[in-house]
Amino acid sequence: MIYLDFAASTPLLQSVKEELFRAFEEEYANPSSAHKLGLLSAEKIEDVRSLIADSIGAYKSEILFTSGATESNNLAIKGYVLANRSKGRHIITSSIEHKCILAICHFLEKEHDYDITYIPPQKNGVVDAQDVIAAMREDTVLVSIMHVNNELGSIQPIATIGQACFDKNIKFHVDAAQSYKKIPIDVDELNIDMLSISAHKIYGPKGIGAVYIRDLRETRIQPVIHGAGQEYGLRGGTLATPLILGFGAAVKDHTIEHSINSVLGLNKYLREAVSELGGISNTPEQQFIPHILNIRLPNFDASQFVTNSMYLCSQGSACSSMNLEASYVLKAIGASFEESFSSIRLSISHQTEISSIKDLIFQLKVYID
Ligand SMILES: *Cc1c(COP(=O)(O)O)cnc(C)c1O
Repeated sequence: MIYLDFAASTPLLQSVKEELFRAFEEEYANPSSAHKLGLLSAEKIEDVRSLIADSIGAYKSEILFTSGATESNNLAIKGYVLANRSKGRHIITSSIEHKCILAICHFLEKEHDYDITYIPPQKNGVVDAQDVIAAMREDTVLVSIMHVNNELGSIQPIATIGQACFDKNIKFHVDAAQSYKKIPIDVDELNIDMLSISAHKIYGPKGIGAVYIRDLRETRIQPVIHGAGQEYGLRGGTLATPLILGFGAAVKDHTIEHSINSVLGLNKYLREAVSELGGISNTPEQQFIPHILNIRLPNFDASQFVTNSMYLCSQGSACSSMNLEASYVLKAIGASFEESFSSIRLSISHQTEISSIKDLIFQLKVYID
């Protein structure tokens, strides 16, 4: 089997695996304990916090550990807006956000009377920053736009939106689960106030992530998980030492350079081959990361291919692939029901070999003939 679903999740790096095994064995103390063993783990956890902070140009005191990007998104969005209700009840997001962002927004709409504007993308899968800016109002408290779309790989104009949010004093949250370690991120340069990341998208373990919150101590945030005071009282629960240290190994060893170089060539090869098969790319020609390529082929039953073939990929995102609904992301860029059912998302990595891509193209050719 050939794994072409790295946007859904990634295998562990060797160094991550080793650190996980070591930490599960040795770092069993509670990192909140006052004794030597607890303190030792706590110190290592703080090192990972620094490492993550440095990797996005933040301070260590602005990083909270969570169970993943889903929880980070919940804490950033619900935590901020519900603690700052008096500032207004309007939120701007896009219609192609990850399912969890849309679910959070629907909850706020239904249960807390928030008014949410969902900005549709342009045909190329990129949200126009001017559309976001035009939707800003007096009572807008938060803008949440993803950095890279998980189904298309399109890059959103984060810097322009961030600048506008800064000028208008609106908080700006970015779901960076697909961009972290694929595109450089500097929260000051991009004017980002809150940022969500996940370890299992960067060759780290599942079940651990982080959220950056600018000026955390001065920002009012309501906890989503109430607990015994961990993580400045904002995220209860004993810190998962092994997972955090495994996350740290991934942050350290999975560099952007590592991730980009070989993937660009594979992307180019794939695009050309798909076009020779009479297919098209749903991923834009510009403003994309090379790791994700969403393609549509003629006479192609995508769901059959996804369930039966030895090439492991997705129809839309992994989370929605169990439903028989058309992808809302492809719909948002104008694809018909039929078009979306003849599209697949291929996501590749530095571990992907060109020979696998060549075999895939051969298989696809047989499949559509
Ligand atoms: C994977 C993903 C998430 C969810 O991350 P988890 O760590 O699995 O909760 C959220 N947003 C985007 C864009 C993703 O790709």
